[in-house]
Amino acid sequence: MRIAVIGTGYVGLVSGVCFSDLGNQVVCVDKDERKVAMLRAGEVPIYEPGLKEVLVKNAEAGRLSFTTDLTEAVQQSEIIILAVGTPSLPSGEADLRYIEQAARDVALSINEYKIIMTKSTVPVGTNHKIKQLVSDLSMKPFDVVSVPEFLREGSAVKDTFNPDRIVIGTDDATAATKIIELHQQLTDNIIVTDVRSAEMIKYASNAFLATKISFINEIANICEKVGADVTKVAEGMGFDKRIGSSFLKAGIGYGGSCFPKDTQALIQIAGNVDYDFKLLKSVVDVNRDQRYSVIHKLEAIYPDLATRKVAVWGLAFKPNTDDIRDAPAIEIIQELVARGVKINAYDPIATDNFRKVVEHENITWCEGAMEAAAGADALCLLTEWPEFEKTDLSALRATMNNAVLIDGRNVFSEEELRDKSFIYRSIGRPNMN
Ligand code: NAD
Repeated sequence: MRIAVIGTGYVGLVSGVCFSDLGNQVVCVDKDERKVAMLRAGEVPIYEPGLKEVLVKNAEAGRLSFTTDLTEAVQQSEIIILAVGTPSLPSGEADLRYIEQAARDVALSINEYKIIMTKSTVPVGTNHKIKQLVSDLSMKPFDVVSVPEFLREGSAVKDTFNPDRIVIGTDDATAATKIIELHQQLTDNIIVTDVRSAEMIKYASNAFLATKISFINEIANICEKVGADVTKVAEGMGFDKRIGSSFLKAGIGYGGSCFPKDTQALIQIAGNVDYDFKLLKSVVDVNRDQRYSVIHKLEAIYPDLATRKVAVWGLAFKPNTDDIRDAPAIEIIQELVARGVKINAYDPIATDNFRKVVEHENITWCEGAMEAAAGADALCLLTEWPEFEKTDLSALRATMNNAVLIDGRNVFSEEELRDKSFIYRSIGRPNMN
């Protein structure tokens, strides 16, 4: 099939690259000329494991190209995928300005029948608005299909080739058949539904996962007070098939470009129809408070925290990505710096992106984990990058000024830390020393 993808971010680029690998002819469009120039040169503007190899292979095979010319891309394609950002407005509602602009641009370019397939996460009713918007500007035939995206950053290529399910929301049977055909090599779990239900499936799924995270984090907070170990509690719960073991890892809460904005947006979607989504509001509150547990643990050890030097390992919102959008590290570091704490920060990939958002004279940006830890009074681990799991704890102990380790992701085990004389605090597990 001939496909145009509008927006070459985490979703658009990965989708475009993977669809080309399945044998489709794909052109990826972005209004950001710098990104398009990089992509044309075989460079990938984001960090996503395995993406570059598949991109280069398909570009060389002539199945994948990049352009800023939306009109030409739309005219030569049968399926137009909308994958632009839908960030939060200050109210928490989704900002639809980019998707509406993209829909307008597409409308003005349509030359013959097109299927407009929305992958961006959009509030219930948005695809109907897009349909209206396009038909106001174009007399040509088209259908709008909602196909929400469920990939996870850090494993986006793998997820795209092996999705748990594909959701197709449309009221047109012919468009549904075409979109089923596009995805049928990927999974047998294809759900065809009406457009509004498809839009809601995306929000409900993310809200449910966020709820699981905040739930286990509250259990962790109680475990700390009653002397239980949340990792054992989660393991014991997870064997119950009705519960499942995923998303039961206690820590400093979720971040990223999806859960925070999608939970807020769903609260707003509910509010717009006079429904007070109390449960989800609590999920969001718990998540916000959870970030501060790192600071509370530091304060309990150092009443004079303002005079201390703290190393931070991990700035990205999760491992294997350079995405720092709504990363817990942003709020934690800003709060520490505001109190006068000196920070040595290190992340294997995300430092450049992080510095665009947080920059301060009290922060030293380090090239390596041990460099960051050198001379520090405490180390806070905020992202569970695999390299941190392999830390030589004796060497770490030797390089730090004081051996205080706040493990915000429960990476280290009691066994590993035994005899290393660290003051060790983690989330929902017994203190050491
Ligand atoms: P992103 O911000 O990384 O990328 C969006 C891209 O769209 C940018 O490169 C921007 O320049 C481009 N763009 C914006 N307007 C344009 C226009 N009119 N024409 C051409 N290009 C345009 O966004 P993302 O993280 O890929 O997310 C895209 C959508 O997918 C969002 O709705 C998001 O909620 C959803 N989603 C994201 C993820 C994720 O893990 N990132 C997962 C599932 C769903």
